[in-house]
Amino acid sequence: MSDLSNGAAWMGGRIIPISEASLPVTDWGLTHSDIGYDVVPVWNGAFFRLDDYLDRFMASVAALRMQVGMDRQDIVNALHAMVGASGLQAAYVAMVAARGRNPIPGSRDPRDCDNHFYAWCVPYVHIVKPEIANRGTSVWVAKSVRRIPKDSVNPRVKNYHWGDFTSGLFEAKDNGFETTLLLDHDGNVTEGPGFNVFALFGDRIMTADQGVLHGITRQTVIEMAQERGLRVDVGPLPVSAFWQADEVFLSSSGGGVIPVTRVDDRHFSNGAPGPVAQVLRRDYFDWLERPEYRTPVRSPR
Ligand code: PLP
Repeated sequence: MSDLSNGAAWMGGRIIPISEASLPVTDWGLTHSDIGYDVVPVWNGAFFRLDDYLDRFMASVAALRMQVGMDRQDIVNALHAMVGASGLQAAYVAMVAARGRNPIPGSRDPRDCDNHFYAWCVPYVHIVKPEIANRGTSVWVAKSVRRIPKDSVNPRVKNYHWGDFTSGLFEAKDNGFETTLLLDHDGNVTEGPGFNVFALFGDRIMTADQGVLHGITRQTVIEMAQERGLRVDVGPLPVSAFWQADEVFLSSSGGGVIPVTRVDDRHFSNGAPGPVAQVLRRDYFDWLERPEYRTPVRSPR
């Protein structure tokens, strides 16, 4: 068996090293970014909230009108087999449905394509390095781009249309910031590359409802905050109100709750992680261990 400790992929029923996983250049997944995907974390040998991630993935596949020839249980089995074979105890696990190749010469009809499923896993990814997240990160509000409108590409279907995020990331890096967040065309805060955004006003937490992926970590934050007796409001978050927040933080399957100490030239919570963000960050790592959310990865046969 080859070394899978750097990551593995499941493609067409075969488990292979991540370095050998590739797609044909004519796959519409590449030529049209025509892909629905999801990413579930594995932490300490178990998937976290696997059913919730699968619900979202299956809904994305249906919304994209793809038929990958595998049902939910087949997909679960593929994920277990792949992660189990990799031996990874903490992993970023991607499941992907791609439009595939169109076997009919000259056809531009999406119904003709051979949709397919594949999966891959690599060691756990923190979207912001833990040492930076622990002391609070910096976020740049993108100026040259707005989030792709929700009636153009549905942000609730997790997708590869990252042109807006990538432009925002270049701006952020050019200005010395860690990451970027995007506004919608009405000036509301939406989301960033791989995360949802939260703002705290007193004992009330706010996050966007429209124009964003409904993150599983966002949902976990809502539940953790409610358990802590905080009020959570889900609705439009105008950037004008956002500037008045007591605290700002991000949520992602890649690292949980990430405190933000600076957005553009504005410092939040005196330039240190806010107390609520810190509590929720710790809570998240506790929740990763809660038995009711854990599905231990099956050992390989
Ligand atoms: N928004 C976008 C655009 C994302 O890509 C992601 C995750 O990768 C998120 C939000 C956060 O979602 P989750 O908490 O399910 O990881």
